[in-house]
Amino acid sequence: MTQATDPFNLAAQELVDLANRITDADPEADPWDVADGLLAGAIHYWLFSRQPCGDPRCEDCEPVSTAEHRMVELQRWVQQFAEDSEYYHAPTDANVGRA
Ligand SMILES: [Zn+2]
Repeated sequence: MTQATDPFNLAAQELVDLANRITDADPEADPWDVADGLLAGAIHYWLFSRQPCGDPRCEDCEPVSTAEHRMVELQRWVQQFAEDSEYYHAPTDANVGRA
């Protein structure tokens, strides 16, 4: 895998690398717990980054101008990143037909 250099891909790659380091260092670590911790940290940082600037007429901040607006925006990103993931569908999904 090539090393990402742009901030978006670098952050995504480093987060996956971190998860792998944690589970490699502790084989007893539950990957679900690791993933939940990563998600909690990612959401914390995302919300930190989306604090509105304080100008009530700022068009850039309009989509994140309230907690409710930020949650709509966050859920939109979650949906998009999930659908973009190669793991969005799993071959073991309950709704996958088996012939
Ligand atoms: Zn603003």
